[in-house]
Amino acid sequence: MHMRTRARGRSDVNVAAGLAEGASNGRLSIWSRPMGLLENKRILVTGVLTDSSLAFAVAKLAQEQGAEVVLSGAGRGLSLTRRTARKLPNEPQVIEIDVTNTAHLEHAALELSERWGRLDGLLHAIGFAPESCLGGDIFRAGWNDVSVALEVSAYSLKALVGAFRPHLAAAGGASVVGLDFDARVAWPAYDWMGVAKAAMESLSRYLARDLGHDKVRVNLVAAGPVRTIAAKSISGFSSFEDTWATRAPLGWDVNDSQAVARACVALLSDWFPMTTGEIVHVDGGVHALGA
Ligand code: NAP
Repeated sequence: MHMRTRARGRSDVNVAAGLAEGASNGRLSIWSRPMGLLENKRILVTGVLTDSSLAFAVAKLAQEQGAEVVLSGAGRGLSLTRRTARKLPNEPQVIEIDVTNTAHLEHAALELSERWGRLDGLLHAIGFAPESCLGGDIFRAGWNDVSVALEVSAYSLKALVGAFRPHLAAAGGASVVGLDFDARVAWPAYDWMGVAKAAMESLSRYLARDLGHDKVRVNLVAAGPVRTIAAKSISGFSSFEDTWATRAPLGWDVNDSQAVARACVALLSDWFPMTTGEIVHVDGGVHALGA
């Protein structure tokens, strides 16, 4: 599949489709090329902080597959998100969304109404837990810190989807994808982030239940460990790296987010039309093993 290097509008898409038609009639043109998986899709990507962010890999691949992308960033990281946006094939607009800030969500919804009207895809790539919530002692954090971890890392999926619900419904087949870390088991050091991910897994099923009649799908990608800013802040992250190095049937590269990005883009596309409330494991197969 050819990679695209610049954004095209709807008319260009039609031109490409027409040329492809010509090609199928035997009149192959040097201008014809296969359509991207996300051609004509409008997608909001949260969680791009640096070019190591999982969301950066998703935004890049989404653009290469034909999507129009808007990024969101938050707080002190917002200027970093804007700088990182310039590294994408087409520099996207960056809007401010701290998921704990209702005014940001309302304002962002208004902005997207004016810009696009509908939203075909939404990537939730947001996680945060105060330091006391991580590190290998589940008793250390009190409710104040735990509530922050749960709000930012789990409840935020409902907050985001709720804010853009009319835009998602207007698409008539939209896809919400969230990034997960397998929460069926207890991991070293992951502590309250693990609890937050378990909440997010459950929440994704309830969102799938309540949005199905609007043809909005809600799925998660449970990724293996990838070295990002968030990952590096987990003391004990190296134990994940060791686990994946020895246990992944397919092998695993902690510096490669391509497999995760491809799964997200596939779920954002029209190629999973009857899949919702699902967790797709992109972890080299580690989740499938007992010991
Ligand atoms: P990352 O690049 O550090 O991204 C985390 C993002 O969350 C940052 O953009 C951060 O922005 C954002 N964020 C934190 N608090 C926020 C808030 N209140 N409002 C809005 N955004 C907020 O790390 P990442 O690893 O790519 O993480 C993305 C997602 O993937 C997370 O849900 C993470 O749990 C999940 N995941 C990661 C791995 C891994 O190994 N890396 C594996 C499985 C799942 P600011 O810093 O500006 O607040």
